[in-house]
Amino acid sequence: MTINKRISTFRQERCDRCGLCFHQCPVLSLPINESKTEIQRLIEGSGSKHVLYKCNTCFSCNIYCPQQANPYQLILENWNRIYKKRGAPPLYRFVCPTEEPNIWQLLNLFLPNQEKKWINKWVTHTPKANEQILLIGNYTHLFPFIIGDSKLLKHYTPVSRIDQWEGGAYLYQGGYLDIVQQIASRCDSDFKKWGVKKVATLLDAVYYIFSEIHPEEMLVNHSQEFINFNELMLEEIKNGNITLPKKLNLDITVHDNCYSKALGGAYWDTPREILLKCGCNLKEMRHNKGDSLCCGFGAGASWFKNISIPFDIISEGTKKFNEAEVTGANALVTYCSGCLYLLWATKELLGYKIDLYHIIEIVRMAMGETIPYPEAHQTRAWDIIAIITYQLMVSTIQKNFFIKKITYEQNLNTFWPKRYLILRIIRILFKISLVRQIYSKMFVILMRLLKSR
Ligand code: SF4
Ligand code: SF4
Repeated sequence: MTINKRISTFRQERCDRCGLCFHQCPVLSLPINESKTEIQRLIEGSGSKHVLYKCNTCFSCNIYCPQQANPYQLILENWNRIYKKRGAPPLYRFVCPTEEPNIWQLLNLFLPNQEKKWINKWVTHTPKANEQILLIGNYTHLFPFIIGDSKLLKHYTPVSRIDQWEGGAYLYQGGYLDIVQQIASRCDSDFKKWGVKKVATLLDAVYYIFSEIHPEEMLVNHSQEFINFNELMLEEIKNGNITLPKKLNLDITVHDNCYSKALGGAYWDTPREILLKCGCNLKEMRHNKGDSLCCGFGAGASWFKNISIPFDIISEGTKKFNEAEVTGANALVTYCSGCLYLLWATKELLGYKIDLYHIIEIVRMAMGETIPYPEAHQTRAWDIIAIITYQLMVSTIQKNFFIKKITYEQNLNTFWPKRYLILRIIRILFKISLVRQIYSKMFVILMRLLKSR
């Protein structure tokens, strides 16, 4: 595989060190002079007192920069340099499909047969040139039930490869830039082999990475046309192919994911328009659109203690729920499946009352389809909490690592699980309500003690 040189998109020549980026940052809010010093440190590569250890990788500073200098990409370059020296934290194996064990492999232990059948179909189907494919992606794999039996799939061929890593979208946010470049080439070779002309993606993050990051930064130009599933749904609603006979009359608030801020906010209006067409009433959170807070995932990017990562993530997620509940809305709606699994874990652990949906579930309800809400989510959230708990335990005896392979080998199989007896026991214990309550209380205590920010 030929790997081109990457391009850094931080525009140093445009940056006048005004400090507005980290001063306006919804997470850091640095005093202006400290912010000016911090940007200088990052440009020089001489370390950081704040950003590299507290940034939630949310993209907002690119919006705040009046010079369009892309300070966010400067942060990623700095993390990339750190990764090359110290590696990734052991817990990160969790989201690496080529490492064992990983979340997809472990979740296979617990998935109902119907969901396994859907996944099996998605991962084994080799697309043909004339098919309109929909890339399901790694995170929607965690919740096949949100779309598996929906009429929404009627016009598309759902396809998935977990070792396409969502095009590298979540690795990009952690500064694993060299790995993203390899993934870009791998995806390109898949698309060429399949001969497909048009690729729909369930995540706007994946749409953005294919259409902007791969060509602009990784120098991998795909010849396919990409389209985001929200755009497709809206188009189908407008042309009458998707009908919404059931107006939901639900007060909702929208979680804008970090990637939605790329391209200056081109992704914010479409999900809102869809939700309004479903009969929802919008109540915006204090931080929304360009200022939106992260679901918590980003806290893992600026890690410095492996043990603290899950506590930092959930702790950041509580800020989102606190803002969502203040709006008085009945439901928090996300259009990103990556955010969905962490938000559900936060909801279950911290006992937030507000409902939590993926936008696809809202559309399905308005279409008149029945969805398994909230039971399927609650069960899945505790399965994922069990997996995170297990992996955190295992990671305490592991060392930092470097991602060496991007493609899993079907024969060795990092996708299908082995026995994992301890994990099975944890999962059985989590079926007991009292155990869940005690675990949640312990988690909150540990969160206060161990969170690193
Ligand atoms: S990156 Fe932009 S906002 Fe930040 S210091 Fe430079 S010019 Fe100012
Ligand atoms: S990416 Fe977000 S959290 Fe990180 S410095 Fe920029 S605005 Fe702040």
